[in-house]
Amino acid sequence: MNDSRIRDVVIVGGGTAGWMAAAALSATMGEQLRIRLIESDEIGIVGVGEATIPAIRLFNGLVGIDEDQFLRATQGTFKLGIEFQNWGRIGESYMHGFGQIGQSLDLIEFWQYWLRGRREGVASELGRYSFNQAAAREGRFARVSRIPNTQLDGLSYAFHFDASLYARFLRSISEQRGVQRVEGQIVDVNLHPETGFVRSVTLASGEEHQGELFIDCSGFRGLLIEQALQTGYEDWSHWLPCDRAIAVPTANVGQPRPYTQSIAHPAGWQWRIPLQHRTGNGHVFSSAWMGDDEATRILLDTVEGEPLADPRTISFQTGMRKQAWNRNVVSLGLSSGFIEPLESTSIHLVQNGIARLISHFPDRGFAQANVDAYNRRIAYEFERIRDFIVLHYSANQRDEPFWKVMRDVELPPVLRDKIDLFKATGRIFREQDELFTEVGWLQVLIGQNVLPDTYHPLADVLSREELAGFLRDIETIVSATALRLPTHADFVAQQCAAEVAHAA
Ligand SMILES: Cc1cc2nc3c(=O)[nH]c(=O)nc-3n(C[C@H](O)[C@H](O)[C@H](O)COP(=O)(O)OP(=O)(O)OC[C@H]3O[C@@H](n4cnc5c(N)ncnc54)[C@H](O)[C@@H]3O)c2cc1C
Repeated sequence: MNDSRIRDVVIVGGGTAGWMAAAALSATMGEQLRIRLIESDEIGIVGVGEATIPAIRLFNGLVGIDEDQFLRATQGTFKLGIEFQNWGRIGESYMHGFGQIGQSLDLIEFWQYWLRGRREGVASELGRYSFNQAAAREGRFARVSRIPNTQLDGLSYAFHFDASLYARFLRSISEQRGVQRVEGQIVDVNLHPETGFVRSVTLASGEEHQGELFIDCSGFRGLLIEQALQTGYEDWSHWLPCDRAIAVPTANVGQPRPYTQSIAHPAGWQWRIPLQHRTGNGHVFSSAWMGDDEATRILLDTVEGEPLADPRTISFQTGMRKQAWNRNVVSLGLSSGFIEPLESTSIHLVQNGIARLISHFPDRGFAQANVDAYNRRIAYEFERIRDFIVLHYSANQRDEPFWKVMRDVELPPVLRDKIDLFKATGRIFREQDELFTEVGWLQVLIGQNVLPDTYHPLADVLSREELAGFLRDIETIVSATALRLPTHADFVAQQCAAEVAHAA
Protein backbone atom coordinates (compact mmCIF):
# COMPACT_ATOMS: atom_id res chain seq x y z
CA MET A 1 0.00 0.00 0.00
CA ASN A 2 1.30 3.43 -0.95
CA ASP A 3 1.78 5.23 2.38
CA SER A 4 1.89 8.65 0.81
CA ARG A 5 -1.83 8.40 0.06
CA ILE A 6 -3.94 11.38 0.97
CA ARG A 7 -6.37 10.67 3.80
CA ASP A 8 -7.49 14.09 4.98
CA VAL A 9 -9.50 16.38 2.72
CA VAL A 10 -10.81 19.73 3.87
CA ILE A 11 -13.47 21.45 1.76
CA VAL A 12 -13.79 25.16 2.47
CA GLY A 13 -17.31 26.40 1.66
CA GLY A 14 -20.76 24.87 1.63
CA GLY A 15 -22.42 26.38 -1.43
CA THR A 16 -23.27 24.36 -4.51
CA ALA A 17 -19.58 23.74 -5.23
CA GLY A 18 -18.65 22.62 -1.74
CA TRP A 19 -21.54 20.23 -1.27
CA MET A 20 -21.21 18.83 -4.80
CA ALA A 21 -17.55 18.08 -4.05
CA ALA A 22 -18.45 16.51 -0.70
CA ALA A 23 -21.21 14.38 -2.21
CA ALA A 24 -19.07 13.16 -5.13
CA LEU A 25 -15.93 12.45 -3.10
CA SER A 26 -17.83 10.65 -0.36
CA ALA A 27 -19.64 8.54 -2.99
CA THR A 28 -16.47 7.57 -4.82
CA MET A 29 -13.56 7.75 -2.35
CA GLY A 30 -15.37 7.92 0.97
CA GLU A 31 -13.82 4.68 2.23
CA GLN A 32 -10.31 6.09 1.86
CA LEU A 33 -10.80 9.69 2.88
CA ARG A 34 -11.74 11.65 5.94
CA ILE A 35 -13.72 14.56 4.49
CA ARG A 36 -14.54 17.69 6.43
CA LEU A 37 -16.50 20.64 5.06
CA ILE A 38 -16.25 24.01 6.76
CA GLU A 39 -18.91 26.62 6.10
CA SER A 40 -20.18 29.74 7.72
CA ASP A 41 -23.94 30.31 8.04
CA GLU A 42 -23.15 33.92 8.79
CA ILE A 43 -21.49 34.42 5.40
CA GLY A 44 -24.04 32.27 3.56
CA ILE A 45 -23.98 31.18 -0.08
CA VAL A 46 -24.41 33.10 -3.32
CA GLY A 47 -27.83 31.41 -3.66
CA VAL A 48 -28.24 31.81 -7.40
CA GLY A 49 -27.38 29.19 -10.01
CA GLU A 50 -30.57 27.38 -10.72
CA ALA A 51 -30.36 26.22 -14.33
CA THR A 52 -28.26 23.31 -15.52
CA ILE A 53 -27.32 21.34 -18.63
CA PRO A 54 -27.94 17.64 -19.31
CA ALA A 55 -24.50 16.52 -18.12
CA ILE A 56 -25.74 17.04 -14.55
CA ARG A 57 -27.52 13.72 -14.91
CA LEU A 58 -24.08 12.07 -15.02
CA PHE A 59 -23.28 13.74 -11.72
CA ASN A 60 -26.54 12.47 -10.25
CA GLY A 61 -25.61 8.99 -11.45
CA LEU A 62 -22.13 9.21 -9.91
CA VAL A 63 -23.51 10.28 -6.56
CA GLY A 64 -26.44 7.83 -6.72
CA ILE A 65 -29.15 10.48 -6.64
CA ASP A 66 -32.73 9.45 -7.35
CA GLU A 67 -33.98 11.99 -9.88
CA ASP A 68 -37.56 12.33 -8.62
CA GLN A 69 -36.47 12.55 -5.02
CA PHE A 70 -33.95 15.25 -5.96
CA LEU A 71 -36.60 17.26 -7.84
CA ARG A 72 -39.06 16.97 -4.94
CA ALA A 73 -36.40 18.17 -2.51
CA THR A 74 -35.31 21.15 -4.63
CA GLN A 75 -38.67 22.33 -6.08
CA GLY A 76 -37.14 21.34 -9.41
CA THR A 77 -38.52 21.34 -12.94
CA PHE A 78 -37.26 19.94 -16.23
CA LYS A 79 -35.29 21.95 -18.76
CA LEU A 80 -35.24 21.17 -22.49
CA GLY A 81 -33.18 24.15 -23.60
CA ILE A 82 -32.95 27.93 -23.52
CA GLU A 83 -35.10 30.36 -25.46
CA PHE A 84 -33.18 33.46 -26.58
CA GLN A 85 -35.27 36.55 -27.25
CA ASN A 86 -33.94 39.71 -28.94
CA TRP A 87 -30.37 38.44 -29.24
CA GLY A 88 -29.96 38.73 -33.02
CA ARG A 89 -32.41 41.57 -33.62
CA ILE A 90 -35.10 42.94 -31.34
CA GLY A 91 -38.29 40.95 -31.92
CA GLU A 92 -36.51 37.76 -32.99
CA SER A 93 -36.27 34.62 -30.94
CA TYR A 94 -34.74 31.19 -31.23
CA MET A 95 -34.08 28.24 -28.99
CA HIS A 96 -30.94 26.36 -28.11
CA GLY A 97 -32.57 23.02 -27.45
CA PHE A 98 -30.56 20.15 -25.99
CA GLY A 99 -30.09 16.96 -27.97
CA GLN A 100 -30.04 16.28 -31.67
CA ILE A 101 -31.79 18.06 -34.49
CA GLY A 102 -33.20 15.88 -37.25
CA GLN A 103 -31.23 12.86 -38.30
CA SER A 104 -27.92 12.56 -40.08
CA LEU A 105 -28.07 10.74 -43.40
CA ASP A 106 -25.27 8.89 -45.15
CA LEU A 107 -22.07 10.58 -44.09
CA ILE A 108 -23.23 14.07 -43.31
CA GLU A 109 -25.14 15.84 -40.61
CA PHE A 110 -28.79 16.73 -40.86
CA TRP A 111 -28.13 20.45 -41.00
CA GLN A 112 -26.33 20.17 -44.34
CA TYR A 113 -29.62 18.96 -45.86
CA TRP A 114 -31.43 21.68 -43.99
CA LEU A 115 -29.07 24.34 -45.38
CA ARG A 116 -29.78 23.12 -48.87
CA GLY A 117 -33.53 22.87 -48.19
CA ARG A 118 -33.52 26.44 -46.90
CA ARG A 119 -31.92 27.70 -50.10
CA GLU A 120 -34.42 25.81 -52.19
CA GLY A 121 -37.42 26.96 -50.16
CA VAL A 122 -38.42 23.51 -48.91
CA ALA A 123 -37.24 23.78 -45.29
CA SER A 124 -38.98 25.20 -42.23
CA GLU A 125 -37.14 26.92 -39.40
CA LEU A 126 -34.32 24.82 -37.96
CA GLY A 127 -36.10 24.38 -34.62
CA ARG A 128 -39.03 22.58 -36.28
CA TYR A 129 -36.77 19.51 -36.64
CA SER A 130 -35.79 19.36 -32.98
CA PHE A 131 -37.87 17.11 -30.72
CA ASN A 132 -36.66 19.06 -27.68
CA GLN A 133 -37.81 22.33 -29.20
CA ALA A 134 -41.15 20.88 -30.29
CA ALA A 135 -41.86 19.63 -26.75
CA ALA A 136 -40.66 22.92 -25.23
CA ARG A 137 -42.91 24.97 -27.53
CA GLU A 138 -45.89 22.88 -26.46
CA GLY A 139 -44.96 22.96 -22.76
CA ARG A 140 -44.68 19.19 -22.68
CA PHE A 141 -42.34 16.70 -21.10
CA ALA A 142 -41.78 12.99 -20.45
CA ARG A 143 -38.73 10.82 -20.15
CA VAL A 144 -38.42 9.49 -23.71
CA SER A 145 -35.13 7.95 -24.77
CA ARG A 146 -36.04 7.43 -28.45
CA ILE A 147 -38.99 8.28 -30.69
CA PRO A 148 -40.50 4.82 -31.24
CA ASN A 149 -40.02 3.21 -34.68
CA THR A 150 -37.60 5.90 -35.84
CA GLN A 151 -33.90 6.69 -35.72
CA LEU A 152 -34.71 9.90 -33.85
CA ASP A 153 -33.45 10.53 -30.32
CA GLY A 154 -35.85 11.18 -27.47
CA LEU A 155 -35.69 14.17 -25.13
CA SER A 156 -32.39 15.35 -23.74
CA TYR A 157 -33.02 17.22 -20.50
CA ALA A 158 -31.53 19.03 -17.55
CA PHE A 159 -33.12 20.69 -14.52
CA HIS A 160 -34.00 23.95 -12.88
CA PHE A 161 -33.80 23.89 -9.09
CA ASP A 162 -33.64 26.09 -6.02
CA ALA A 163 -29.93 26.62 -5.30
CA SER A 164 -30.30 26.78 -1.52
CA LEU A 165 -32.40 23.61 -1.42
CA TYR A 166 -29.88 21.88 -3.69
CA ALA A 167 -27.01 22.59 -1.29
CA ARG A 168 -29.20 21.33 1.58
CA PHE A 169 -30.10 18.18 -0.34
CA LEU A 170 -26.47 17.38 -1.14
CA ARG A 171 -25.51 18.10 2.44
CA SER A 172 -27.88 15.47 3.79
CA ILE A 173 -26.53 12.88 1.32
CA SER A 174 -22.93 13.75 2.18
CA GLU A 175 -23.47 13.67 5.94
CA GLN A 176 -25.14 10.26 5.66
CA ARG A 177 -21.95 9.09 3.96
CA GLY A 178 -19.72 10.32 6.71
CA VAL A 179 -18.76 13.85 5.64
CA GLN A 180 -18.22 15.94 8.73
CA ARG A 181 -19.65 19.46 8.59
CA VAL A 182 -17.93 22.16 10.60
CA GLU A 183 -19.75 25.41 11.19
CA GLY A 184 -17.58 28.47 11.64
CA GLN A 185 -15.85 31.35 10.00
CA ILE A 186 -12.28 30.86 8.83
CA VAL A 187 -10.15 33.80 9.93
CA ASP A 188 -6.67 32.49 9.13
CA VAL A 189 -5.10 30.27 6.53
CA ASN A 190 -1.79 28.87 7.77
CA LEU A 191 0.92 28.04 5.26
CA HIS A 192 3.82 25.68 5.69
CA PRO A 193 6.86 27.98 6.03
CA GLU A 194 9.03 25.99 3.58
CA THR A 195 6.68 24.64 0.94
CA GLY A 196 4.05 27.36 0.99
CA PHE A 197 1.41 24.61 1.05
CA VAL A 198 -1.71 25.20 3.13
CA ARG A 199 -1.26 23.39 6.43
CA SER A 200 -4.42 24.37 8.27
CA VAL A 201 -7.22 26.88 8.63
CA THR A 202 -8.18 28.61 11.86
CA LEU A 203 -11.78 29.45 12.76
CA ALA A 204 -12.99 32.49 14.68
CA SER A 205 -13.52 30.16 17.66
CA GLY A 206 -9.77 29.42 17.64
CA GLU A 207 -10.32 25.86 16.42
CA GLU A 208 -7.72 24.76 13.87
CA HIS A 209 -8.32 22.26 11.07
CA GLN A 210 -5.36 20.60 9.40
CA GLY A 211 -5.58 18.84 6.08
CA GLU A 212 -3.53 17.36 3.27
CA LEU A 213 -5.67 18.38 0.33
CA PHE A 214 -7.79 21.54 0.51
CA ILE A 215 -10.67 22.19 -1.85
CA ASP A 216 -11.45 25.89 -2.04
CA CYS A 217 -15.19 26.37 -2.58
CA SER A 218 -15.33 29.69 -0.75
CA GLY A 219 -16.99 31.58 -3.60
CA PHE A 220 -15.78 34.73 -5.34
CA ARG A 221 -13.42 35.60 -2.46
CA GLY A 222 -11.16 32.58 -3.16
CA LEU A 223 -10.10 32.40 0.47
CA LEU A 224 -7.32 29.86 -0.08
CA ILE A 225 -6.53 29.95 -3.79
CA GLU A 226 -6.30 33.74 -3.98
CA GLN A 227 -6.24 35.38 -0.57
CA ALA A 228 -3.71 32.91 0.82
CA LEU A 229 -1.84 31.64 -2.27
CA GLN A 230 -2.21 34.71 -4.51
CA THR A 231 -2.62 32.60 -7.61
CA GLY A 232 -3.80 35.43 -9.86
CA TYR A 233 -6.84 35.85 -12.10
CA GLU A 234 -7.10 36.01 -15.86
CA ASP A 235 -9.55 38.77 -16.66
CA TRP A 236 -11.86 38.22 -19.65
CA SER A 237 -13.98 41.32 -19.27
CA HIS A 238 -12.72 42.75 -22.58
CA TRP A 239 -14.63 39.89 -24.22
CA LEU A 240 -17.48 39.67 -21.72
CA PRO A 241 -17.97 43.06 -20.05
CA CYS A 242 -21.10 42.22 -18.04
CA ASP A 243 -20.08 42.47 -14.40
CA ARG A 244 -23.27 42.74 -12.38
CA ALA A 245 -26.53 40.92 -11.86
CA ILE A 246 -29.72 42.01 -10.12
CA ALA A 247 -31.70 38.98 -8.97
CA VAL A 248 -35.30 38.76 -7.79
CA PRO A 249 -37.64 35.79 -7.25
CA THR A 250 -41.27 36.16 -8.34
CA ALA A 251 -44.52 34.26 -7.90
CA ASN A 252 -45.30 31.87 -10.73
CA VAL A 253 -47.73 33.00 -13.39
CA GLY A 254 -49.23 30.04 -15.23
CA GLN A 255 -47.55 26.66 -15.58
CA PRO A 256 -43.75 26.40 -15.33
CA ARG A 257 -42.16 26.29 -18.77
CA PRO A 258 -39.83 23.35 -19.45
CA TYR A 259 -37.06 25.71 -20.56
CA THR A 260 -35.06 28.72 -19.42
CA GLN A 261 -35.63 32.10 -21.03
CA SER A 262 -32.90 34.59 -21.84
CA ILE A 263 -34.06 38.01 -22.98
CA ALA A 264 -31.51 40.50 -24.29
CA HIS A 265 -31.76 44.11 -23.02
CA PRO A 266 -29.88 47.30 -24.01
CA ALA A 267 -26.73 46.43 -22.02
CA GLY A 268 -27.12 42.79 -21.07
CA TRP A 269 -29.83 40.21 -20.65
CA GLN A 270 -32.39 38.75 -18.28
CA TRP A 271 -32.97 35.17 -17.15
CA ARG A 272 -36.25 33.53 -16.23
CA ILE A 273 -35.99 30.17 -14.51
CA PRO A 274 -39.26 28.42 -13.66
CA LEU A 275 -39.36 26.34 -10.48
CA GLN A 276 -42.29 24.60 -8.84
CA HIS A 277 -42.78 27.22 -6.13
CA ARG A 278 -41.48 30.41 -7.79
CA THR A 279 -39.62 31.84 -10.77
CA GLY A 280 -36.00 32.94 -10.54
CA ASN A 281 -35.21 36.14 -12.44
CA GLY A 282 -32.10 38.18 -12.92
CA HIS A 283 -30.70 40.93 -15.09
CA VAL A 284 -27.04 40.55 -16.07
CA PHE A 285 -25.56 43.80 -17.35
CA SER A 286 -22.43 45.82 -17.83
CA SER A 287 -21.98 48.57 -15.23
CA ALA A 288 -19.93 50.52 -17.78
CA TRP A 289 -23.12 50.91 -19.85
CA MET A 290 -25.94 50.91 -17.32
CA GLY A 291 -26.50 51.90 -13.69
CA ASP A 292 -28.03 49.66 -11.02
CA ASP A 293 -31.24 51.72 -10.84
CA GLU A 294 -31.97 51.42 -14.54
CA ALA A 295 -31.07 47.71 -14.55
CA THR A 296 -33.39 47.11 -11.60
CA ARG A 297 -36.20 49.05 -13.25
CA ILE A 298 -35.87 47.04 -16.47
CA LEU A 299 -35.95 43.82 -14.49
CA LEU A 300 -38.97 44.76 -12.39
CA ASP A 301 -40.82 46.03 -15.48
CA THR A 302 -40.34 42.74 -17.29
CA VAL A 303 -40.83 40.03 -14.65
CA GLU A 304 -44.09 38.16 -15.03
CA GLY A 305 -45.23 37.70 -11.42
CA GLU A 306 -45.20 39.59 -8.11
CA PRO A 307 -41.70 39.97 -6.60
CA LEU A 308 -41.30 37.79 -3.50
CA ALA A 309 -38.24 39.58 -2.11
CA ASP A 310 -36.24 42.74 -2.63
CA PRO A 311 -33.93 42.71 -5.65
CA ARG A 312 -30.31 42.07 -4.73
CA THR A 313 -27.13 42.92 -6.59
CA ILE A 314 -24.23 40.57 -7.25
CA SER A 315 -20.95 41.84 -8.72
CA PHE A 316 -18.53 39.64 -10.62
CA GLN A 317 -15.60 39.71 -12.96
CA THR A 318 -15.55 37.27 -15.86
CA GLY A 319 -12.42 35.19 -16.08
CA MET A 320 -10.61 32.33 -14.46
CA ARG A 321 -7.96 31.66 -11.87
CA LYS A 322 -4.51 31.44 -13.48
CA GLN A 323 -4.16 27.98 -11.95
CA ALA A 324 -7.30 26.21 -10.80
CA TRP A 325 -5.03 23.94 -8.74
CA ASN A 326 -2.11 25.56 -6.91
CA ARG A 327 0.10 23.60 -4.49
CA ASN A 328 -2.31 21.55 -2.32
CA VAL A 329 -5.36 23.69 -3.07
CA VAL A 330 -7.88 22.87 -5.79
CA SER A 331 -10.44 25.59 -6.42
CA LEU A 332 -13.96 24.73 -7.55
CA GLY A 333 -16.96 26.88 -8.34
CA LEU A 334 -16.82 30.65 -8.10
CA SER A 335 -13.37 30.59 -6.48
CA SER A 336 -11.97 29.04 -9.68
CA GLY A 337 -13.52 31.56 -12.07
CA PHE A 338 -16.80 32.74 -13.46
CA ILE A 339 -18.48 32.94 -16.83
CA GLU A 340 -21.90 34.56 -16.83
CA PRO A 341 -24.82 32.14 -16.65
CA LEU A 342 -26.06 32.60 -20.23
CA GLU A 343 -25.71 28.90 -21.06
CA SER A 344 -25.93 27.65 -17.45
CA THR A 345 -22.39 26.35 -17.38
CA SER A 346 -21.03 27.14 -13.90
CA ILE A 347 -22.50 24.15 -12.10
CA HIS A 348 -21.26 22.05 -14.97
CA LEU A 349 -17.76 23.45 -14.49
CA VAL A 350 -17.96 22.45 -10.82
CA GLN A 351 -18.99 18.95 -11.83
CA ASN A 352 -16.24 18.82 -14.41
CA GLY A 353 -13.62 20.02 -11.92
CA ILE A 354 -14.68 17.29 -9.49
CA ALA A 355 -14.52 14.59 -12.18
CA ARG A 356 -11.07 15.77 -13.25
CA LEU A 357 -9.91 15.95 -9.63
CA ILE A 358 -10.94 12.34 -9.12
CA SER A 359 -9.07 11.27 -12.25
CA HIS A 360 -6.00 13.35 -11.29
CA PHE A 361 -6.27 12.53 -7.56
CA PRO A 362 -2.84 13.26 -6.05
CA ASP A 363 -0.81 11.69 -3.31
CA ARG A 364 1.05 13.73 -0.74
CA GLY A 365 3.89 14.29 -3.20
CA PHE A 366 1.57 16.47 -5.35
CA ALA A 367 3.46 15.71 -8.58
CA GLN A 368 3.68 19.00 -10.46
CA ALA A 369 3.15 17.24 -13.79
CA ASN A 370 -0.22 16.00 -12.53
CA VAL A 371 -1.20 19.45 -11.29
CA ASP A 372 -0.14 21.01 -14.60
CA ALA A 373 -2.12 18.44 -16.60
CA TYR A 374 -5.24 19.16 -14.52
CA ASN A 375 -4.83 22.89 -14.95
CA ARG A 376 -4.40 22.60 -18.72
CA ARG A 377 -7.61 20.63 -19.09
CA ILE A 378 -9.61 22.92 -16.85
CA ALA A 379 -8.33 26.03 -18.65
CA TYR A 380 -9.16 24.52 -22.03
CA GLU A 381 -12.73 23.75 -20.97
CA PHE A 382 -13.25 27.21 -19.47
CA GLU A 383 -11.92 28.82 -22.64
CA ARG A 384 -14.19 26.88 -24.99
CA ILE A 385 -17.24 27.79 -22.91
CA ARG A 386 -16.10 31.41 -22.88
CA ASP A 387 -15.90 31.34 -26.69
CA PHE A 388 -19.43 30.00 -26.96
CA ILE A 389 -20.73 32.79 -24.72
CA VAL A 390 -18.78 35.42 -26.66
CA LEU A 391 -20.49 34.19 -29.86
CA HIS A 392 -23.91 35.16 -28.42
CA TYR A 393 -22.72 38.71 -27.90
CA SER A 394 -20.69 39.18 -31.05
CA ALA A 395 -23.24 37.80 -33.53
CA ASN A 396 -25.84 40.49 -32.99
CA GLN A 397 -27.49 43.01 -35.27
CA ARG A 398 -28.85 45.37 -32.60
CA ASP A 399 -28.44 49.13 -32.72
CA GLU A 400 -27.69 50.14 -29.12
CA PRO A 401 -24.11 51.32 -28.39
CA PHE A 402 -23.37 48.35 -26.11
CA TRP A 403 -24.34 45.86 -28.81
CA LYS A 404 -22.42 47.71 -31.52
CA VAL A 405 -19.29 47.53 -29.38
CA MET A 406 -19.87 43.84 -28.73
CA ARG A 407 -20.16 43.23 -32.45
CA ASP A 408 -16.74 44.78 -33.03
CA VAL A 409 -14.89 43.05 -30.18
CA GLU A 410 -11.80 41.24 -31.40
CA LEU A 411 -12.69 37.58 -31.03
CA PRO A 412 -10.59 34.88 -29.36
CA PRO A 413 -8.74 33.18 -32.28
CA VAL A 414 -10.35 29.72 -31.85
CA LEU A 415 -13.80 31.31 -32.00
CA ARG A 416 -12.92 33.46 -35.00
CA ASP A 417 -11.73 30.35 -36.88
CA LYS A 418 -14.89 28.46 -35.97
CA ILE A 419 -17.16 31.22 -37.27
CA ASP A 420 -15.07 31.65 -40.44
CA LEU A 421 -15.23 27.93 -41.15
CA PHE A 422 -18.98 27.87 -40.69
CA LYS A 423 -19.58 30.91 -42.88
CA ALA A 424 -17.39 29.53 -45.66
CA THR A 425 -18.47 25.86 -45.60
CA GLY A 426 -21.41 25.29 -43.24
CA ARG A 427 -19.17 22.98 -41.21
CA ILE A 428 -18.67 22.88 -37.46
CA PHE A 429 -16.16 20.66 -35.72
CA ARG A 430 -16.25 20.04 -32.02
CA GLU A 431 -12.86 20.50 -30.42
CA GLN A 432 -11.60 17.71 -28.18
CA ASP A 433 -13.07 17.96 -24.66
CA GLU A 434 -15.27 20.86 -25.73
CA LEU A 435 -18.57 20.96 -23.85
CA PHE A 436 -20.97 22.22 -26.49
CA THR A 437 -21.86 20.00 -29.40
CA GLU A 438 -21.92 20.96 -33.07
CA VAL A 439 -25.70 21.22 -32.87
CA GLY A 440 -25.43 23.59 -29.92
CA TRP A 441 -23.15 25.88 -31.90
CA LEU A 442 -25.38 25.55 -34.95
CA GLN A 443 -28.51 26.71 -33.17
CA VAL A 444 -26.85 29.85 -31.86
CA LEU A 445 -25.14 30.64 -35.17
CA ILE A 446 -28.34 30.24 -37.19
CA GLY A 447 -30.48 31.79 -34.45
CA GLN A 448 -28.34 34.92 -34.55
CA ASN A 449 -28.32 35.10 -38.34
CA VAL A 450 -24.84 33.79 -39.10
CA LEU A 451 -25.50 31.88 -42.31
CA PRO A 452 -23.03 29.98 -44.45
CA ASP A 453 -22.51 30.64 -48.15
CA THR A 454 -22.84 26.98 -49.06
CA TYR A 455 -23.51 23.46 -47.78
CA HIS A 456 -21.78 20.07 -48.05
CA PRO A 457 -21.86 18.69 -51.63
CA LEU A 458 -23.13 15.30 -50.41
CA ALA A 459 -26.44 16.97 -49.55
CA ASP A 460 -27.04 17.11 -53.31
CA VAL A 461 -27.45 13.33 -53.55
CA LEU A 462 -31.17 13.68 -52.84
CA SER A 463 -33.50 15.00 -55.51
CA ARG A 464 -35.42 18.14 -54.59
CA GLU A 465 -38.55 16.03 -53.94
CA GLU A 466 -36.64 13.53 -51.81
CA LEU A 467 -35.12 16.36 -49.82
CA ALA A 468 -38.50 18.00 -49.24
CA GLY A 469 -39.98 14.63 -48.17
CA PHE A 470 -37.07 13.86 -45.83
CA LEU A 471 -37.42 17.22 -44.09
CA ARG A 472 -41.23 17.07 -43.99
CA ASP A 473 -41.25 13.58 -42.44
CA ILE A 474 -38.95 14.59 -39.61
CA GLU A 475 -40.90 17.75 -38.89
CA THR A 476 -44.18 15.83 -38.81
CA ILE A 477 -42.90 13.01 -36.57
CA VAL A 478 -41.26 15.39 -34.14
CA SER A 479 -44.26 17.66 -33.72
CA ALA A 480 -46.84 14.84 -33.58
CA THR A 481 -44.79 12.98 -30.95
CA ALA A 482 -44.40 16.13 -28.87
CA LEU A 483 -48.18 16.64 -28.86
CA ARG A 484 -48.74 13.17 -27.44
CA LEU A 485 -46.59 13.87 -24.35
CA PRO A 486 -48.10 14.97 -21.04
CA THR A 487 -47.83 18.63 -20.16
CA HIS A 488 -44.71 19.51 -18.21
CA ALA A 489 -46.89 20.65 -15.28
CA ASP A 490 -48.79 17.33 -15.19
CA PHE A 491 -45.58 15.33 -15.43
CA VAL A 492 -44.04 17.23 -12.51
CA ALA A 493 -47.24 16.95 -10.47
CA GLN A 494 -47.39 13.19 -11.00
CA GLN A 495 -43.70 12.31 -10.68
CA CYS A 496 -41.88 14.78 -8.52
CA ALA A 497 -44.10 17.42 -6.93
CA ALA A 498 -42.46 18.95 -3.87
CA GLU A 499 -44.23 17.91 -0.69
CA VAL A 500 -43.71 21.15 1.19
CA ALA A 501 -44.18 24.57 -0.35
CA HIS A 502 -41.02 26.49 0.54
CA ALA A 503 -41.06 30.24 0.81
CA ALA A 504 -38.82 32.26 -1.54
C1 LIG B 1 -25.82 35.98 -11.03
C2 LIG B 1 -25.44 34.54 -11.11
C3 LIG B 1 -26.29 33.61 -11.72
C4 LIG B 1 -25.91 32.27 -11.83
N1 LIG B 1 -26.70 31.38 -12.49
C5 LIG B 1 -26.26 30.13 -12.70
C6 LIG B 1 -27.03 29.19 -13.43
O1 LIG B 1 -28.15 29.45 -13.84
N2 LIG B 1 -26.50 27.97 -13.65
C7 LIG B 1 -25.27 27.62 -13.18
O2 LIG B 1 -24.81 26.50 -13.44
N3 LIG B 1 -24.56 28.46 -12.42
C8 LIG B 1 -25.02 29.71 -12.19
N4 LIG B 1 -24.28 30.56 -11.43
C9 LIG B 1 -23.09 30.08 -10.76
C10 LIG B 1 -23.47 29.33 -9.50
O3 LIG B 1 -24.23 30.14 -8.65
C11 LIG B 1 -22.22 28.92 -8.79
O4 LIG B 1 -21.40 28.21 -9.67
C12 LIG B 1 -22.54 28.00 -7.66
O5 LIG B 1 -23.53 28.52 -6.85
C13 LIG B 1 -21.32 27.73 -6.86
O6 LIG B 1 -21.07 28.71 -5.93
P1 LIG B 1 -19.95 28.40 -4.87
O7 LIG B 1 -20.37 27.20 -4.11
O8 LIG B 1 -18.66 28.38 -5.58
O9 LIG B 1 -19.93 29.70 -3.95
P2 LIG B 1 -20.95 30.24 -2.75
O10 LIG B 1 -22.36 29.83 -2.99
O11 LIG B 1 -20.65 31.68 -2.68
O12 LIG B 1 -20.45 29.49 -1.48
C14 LIG B 1 -19.32 29.91 -0.77
C15 LIG B 1 -19.24 29.16 0.54
O13 LIG B 1 -18.02 29.49 1.18
C16 LIG B 1 -18.28 29.77 2.53
N5 LIG B 1 -17.27 30.69 3.03
C17 LIG B 1 -16.77 31.78 2.42
N6 LIG B 1 -15.87 32.40 3.20
C18 LIG B 1 -15.79 31.66 4.33
C19 LIG B 1 -15.05 31.78 5.53
N7 LIG B 1 -14.21 32.80 5.76
N8 LIG B 1 -15.24 30.85 6.48
C20 LIG B 1 -16.08 29.81 6.30
N9 LIG B 1 -16.81 29.64 5.20
C21 LIG B 1 -16.67 30.57 4.23
C22 LIG B 1 -19.68 30.37 2.53
O14 LIG B 1 -20.26 30.27 3.81
C23 LIG B 1 -20.36 29.48 1.51
O15 LIG B 1 -20.79 28.30 2.16
C24 LIG B 1 -24.68 31.87 -11.28
C25 LIG B 1 -23.86 32.79 -10.60
C26 LIG B 1 -24.23 34.11 -10.53
C27 LIG B 1 -23.33 35.07 -9.81
